[in-house]
Amino acid sequence: MQPVNGIDHLERSDDLGVYKTLLESTKAIPWKINWQTKQFDYIGPQIESLLGWPRDSWLGATDWIERIHPEDRQRTAEFCISQSEEGVDHEADYRALKADGSYVWIRDVVHVIRNEHKVTTDLVGFMFDISARKQMEQEVVDLNHKFKALSNQDGLTGVANRRLFDQTLAAEWARGKRSGEPLSLLMLDVDHFKGYNDHYGHVKGDECLVRIAQAISKIPMRSSDLFVRYGGEEFALVLPQTPADAAQRVAEKCRDVVAALEIPHTLSPVGRITISVGICTIIPNECDTVTTLIERADDKLYRAKRNGRNCICSY
Ligand code: GH3
Ligand code: MG
Ligand code: MG
Repeated sequence: MQPVNGIDHLERSDDLGVYKTLLESTKAIPWKINWQTKQFDYIGPQIESLLGWPRDSWLGATDWIERIHPEDRQRTAEFCISQSEEGVDHEADYRALKADGSYVWIRDVVHVIRNEHKVTTDLVGFMFDISARKQMEQEVVDLNHKFKALSNQDGLTGVANRRLFDQTLAAEWARGKRSGEPLSLLMLDVDHFKGYNDHYGHVKGDECLVRIAQAISKIPMRSSDLFVRYGGEEFALVLPQTPADAAQRVAEKCRDVVAALEIPHTLSPVGRITISVGICTIIPNECDTVTTLIERADDKLYRAKRNGRNCICSY
């Protein structure tokens, strides 16, 4: 195929001025280093507007290394030096120090030139300002974190939701099976809550659920414990590595903090909001499943209801 006329002409005419104009008018910053002396032969004038350092302050590789963010410096320098020695073209992303003390994300794209003895003689490359891209990447990461947190959170009360409960319980069941340690589950249900809604309205009902969730969330617990809104006016507490007697104490604490809120409820026999709690403790095993644990805790919750509510029953 015939080369395009213009390019062909350029190459033959040796019109370096055109190449220079092209190089120095792009946003990418061209540079060349003599690998023997480690000194810059050339660096594009755009470097000054990007980083603020005068063009003639870029004498050698040490100036480049010193202006890399301390957290990126060692890995970037080591990677680029080893690739250059081996004659491998490469790319490196790092933060470069600006004259005003701030940093810019740079992508350096490097071509390694070697002589006939396979000895590296020069490096040529382009520096690209990738700050905008990095910022967008960070925003995507942040949004993902936010989304993940929201997808595990109950919209009304802000505590964990059923989704996280299912995941956590499955993981803890598997962990308990390996470790042979007991896993406890508390199911908590607000007493006579239909009556509360009927009498005080749904808005007050929602407020009441938020206050209950906040009160129980404030009870000091282990980082592996998980308190969730299971649905409606039901909550659950997953207590890994917790035997029955400790689970009983946590349940009592939950009942106490709710009672201590002293939320008036005229339709309740005790005149205020209370909860009932069902507990099941199992050492996870091959015969049972997570469903067994939930069903037994639920069963005990209904026993607590039958026993007059505002009480705790355990399997
Ligand atoms: P029990 O003591 O046997 O638990 O009786 P209860 O009235 O609490 O139980 P029931 O299951 O009959 O009623 C639960 C009520 O909880 C029904 C509904 O009005 C209310 N509820 C469920 N979810 C919400 C919610 O998100 N907000 C409000 N305000 N009320 C809710
Ligand atoms: Mg209920
Ligand atoms: Mg209820």
